[in-house]
Amino acid sequence: MADLLFQCVDNLAAAKRILKIFDAQPLVKDKPDAKQLDIKRGGVELKDLHFCYPDGNQIFNNISLSVQPGETIALVGPSGVGKSTLAILLMRFYDPDQGQIFIDGIDVQTYTVNSLRKNISVVWQEPFIINDTIKANLLMVEPGATEQQLITACKHSYAWDFISGLDDGLQTKIGADGVTLSAGQVQRLAIAQAFLRDAAILIFDEATSALDSLSEINVINALDKLKKNKTTFIISHCFSAIKIADRVVYFNGDGTITEGEHADLMQQHAGYKRAVEWQTTEVD
Ligand code: ADP
Repeated sequence: MADLLFQCVDNLAAAKRILKIFDAQPLVKDKPDAKQLDIKRGGVELKDLHFCYPDGNQIFNNISLSVQPGETIALVGPSGVGKSTLAILLMRFYDPDQGQIFIDGIDVQTYTVNSLRKNISVVWQEPFIINDTIKANLLMVEPGATEQQLITACKHSYAWDFISGLDDGLQTKIGADGVTLSAGQVQRLAIAQAFLRDAAILIFDEATSALDSLSEINVINALDKLKKNKTTFIISHCFSAIKIADRVVYFNGDGTITEGEHADLMQQHAGYKRAVEWQTTEVD
């Protein structure tokens, strides 16, 4: 199972997270004439999507969304409404029951699954780290990277702030037999991995609610740099992504979504306004 996973999913964190999906259903298959995807711009369009998990759990009921290349979209709403499922459909761990997903105007089912996933970087809320050196964890996503490229990626993601203070630097062992990193450090390392991959589409599963305020600032600053020139989806559990997003997609909880700028949604969408205000009050 693990070998199969790692062949098919570059991002090991994603592999860990979707393990239950592999147990539940065979992989989506390439079409016989599937082509290699090499994203030029990164525009994403969802058209009339309907999706139920195989157990009958309906997640989407006719959703459509058009995302411009380079745009940052916050996917917000309470737990269990389908934010991660949207990312899962984009990466084709499942195909929608009806409707289509386009990247740069072409249906994603036209492309091989592997090439599609190579063009998407994912930073999950709880990134998966192997019990090896920091360097090995970075090389996992970009095996040909030079030492200097690794250091540059770590500097961009603010991971260098803590790595440079470790006696063995990049050679430091982490995980079960080594140094234990904090949640914020692990996320910055995962962001360094995403810098190395440099894919046109970025999915960021926001973990900032679990971080202390200094780590949160570091992670948000790193994300802000990483998302430049990328089409970015931020799965937001605590609405903080609203600040750095161009637009918000609010999951209404009934299989539909509402999209718009934060200020407009606050005026026009009572459910969204309530959710934001409730959370702000909770945080305060
Ligand atoms: P969110 O990211 O908004 O918290 P998810 O997309 O993870 O929500 O999940 C949406 C719903 O789908 C939840 O009810 C969840 O339990 C269910 N779900 C997630 N993965 C699967 C799966 N593989 N099979 C069946 N149901 C699933």
